[in-house]
Amino acid sequence: MAAPDTSSPANRREQTIRALTEAPLDVLVIGGGIVGAGIARDAAMRGLKVGLVEQHDFAFGTSSRSSRLLHGGLRYLAQGRIGLVHEASVEKKIIHQIAPHLAQPLPFIFPTYRGNKDWVLWQLKIGVKIYDLLCHGRNLGRSTWLSTNETLEKVPGLAAPGLKGAVRYYDGFTNDARLVIDTLRSAAKSGAHLLNYCRLQDSAPGPDWTCAVMDQQATRSFAIRARAVVNATGPWADGLPHSRVKLRLTKGIHIVVDRARLAVADTVVMTEGKRILFAIPWGERTILGTTDTDHEGSPNRVTAEPPEIRYLLEVANRFFPGVALREEDVISTWAGLRPLIADPKGRPSDISRSHEIRSPEAGWWDVSGGKLTTYRLMAEQTVDRIVKSLTTNGARRFQNCRTADEPLLPIVDTAGVSAIVPPEFSRFAVEHYCRAEWAWQLADVMLRRTSWHYYFTDAPEKAEQVAGWMAEILGWSNAERARELEQYNAAHPASGSTLRPAESSS
Ligand SMILES: Cc1cc2nc3c(=O)[nH]c(=O)nc-3n(C[C@H](O)[C@H](O)[C@H](O)COP(=O)(O)OP(=O)(O)OC[C@H]3O[C@@H](n4cnc5c(N)ncnc54)[C@H](O)[C@@H]3O)c2cc1C
Repeated sequence: MAAPDTSSPANRREQTIRALTEAPLDVLVIGGGIVGAGIARDAAMRGLKVGLVEQHDFAFGTSSRSSRLLHGGLRYLAQGRIGLVHEASVEKKIIHQIAPHLAQPLPFIFPTYRGNKDWVLWQLKIGVKIYDLLCHGRNLGRSTWLSTNETLEKVPGLAAPGLKGAVRYYDGFTNDARLVIDTLRSAAKSGAHLLNYCRLQDSAPGPDWTCAVMDQQATRSFAIRARAVVNATGPWADGLPHSRVKLRLTKGIHIVVDRARLAVADTVVMTEGKRILFAIPWGERTILGTTDTDHEGSPNRVTAEPPEIRYLLEVANRFFPGVALREEDVISTWAGLRPLIADPKGRPSDISRSHEIRSPEAGWWDVSGGKLTTYRLMAEQTVDRIVKSLTTNGARRFQNCRTADEPLLPIVDTAGVSAIVPPEFSRFAVEHYCRAEWAWQLADVMLRRTSWHYYFTDAPEKAEQVAGWMAEILGWSNAERARELEQYNAAHPASGSTLRPAESSS
């Protein structure tokens, strides 16, 4: 009889479940977005015994639906939130150092117009210089000022009437879902046990916490014991048992159009009153976003609605009047929820993007708010506090935080499979995602591992091919393959007749 294939994805999943259940963990992280991934990596690197469960795929939530920017936030500078901007500015540079494949310096051109009292050129000129200084004086590139003519040269097609000039400054561009996956790969290398499609259902305190989880793939439940439990569930955080988080969810959508319809070399900042929106160059495409509106209802169902899409098109058409973008130009969309700490009084775009780490009960940790850019710092602060609580009697010692210094992954582990623009369409890449990156469903590959769904105009045909490859690699029957395709096509209709919405799940 042939020896069992211990390296098959299914066998590895079983091994992970065994490791999660056989003995109590030091820390169990709930939620496989960027915050949970960062905490798992940090804790595992310090020598803690770590587990992480994610109810859907890793990066299913907000962490695959952002604007993909690593930024201090020029907007927050305008609001005088220097501390917040400084913190995020330092972090964007750290991510650039530890994950250069996922942190590209990205120039922004911010044009200003006569009569616009919200965004005044001389104030922006001072603002971008302060912005550079807040990165310890060395931003990812030096900010400059542009005259009207220079602005029009750099941004052909930009609305000229009333244009006064622009500032040009730098932030970073990333791939949000890839940042999650690569952070998790790094965590796994340090010994963390990571399980997607596994939902926390209940948790009970005791000498150790006992967490009842449901394996969504096999529809079976089991218990995981841990000395500390971290609620890192982003927009879901106030729904977990024992959570004391109070959130205000605001929704933001993005749309993708062909570069042939709207080409920008640098990101162009477009304003709507105090709000700022972006036209971001992304390989052969341009990303337009985002909106910021209050969201009621389940975080499981978030899609870009036609009025929101039309709003983005209108803003872009105002700034690029010759382009006349139409709904038919939209290749794809995504929609996400900002898990902001509740302040019922503020307007959505005014609410602070700062984070909070709280332990309302011994061993239970709520980590909420923040942004993609500051995930590493959130993780460091959380693990510092957990380590302190676990070592009060001096019996155990853990290493110091090293996440700001050690590369996420060696270059050889990311070449051809992880970058800001989608990887080449190949069976090799799909095999890698299934064998080394926990991809189980078609959408896991098409959306979160590759962004092929968002990027390619023939995504449905590509999905059919990927389903064939995944069937071979994961051993799907014909019926399973057909079901995967059916589910994918239902959740992500082809562009053209209907706009392709972002993923949702019930
Ligand atoms: C439109 C938009 C644009 C943004 N742009 C930027 C930007 O450009 N730069 C930036 O820095 N930040 C940006 N952000 C903010 C940033 O994306 C978020 O702060 C960050 O992704 C939140 O990560 P998270 O891990 O807290 O949440 P999530 O990524 O949502 O992860 C939480 C996870 O928990 C899982 N979960 C929930 N309940 C359970 C359970 N019971 N059991 C197991 N798992 C569970 C969910 O499935 C989910 O995957 C943006 C946000 C939005 C909405």
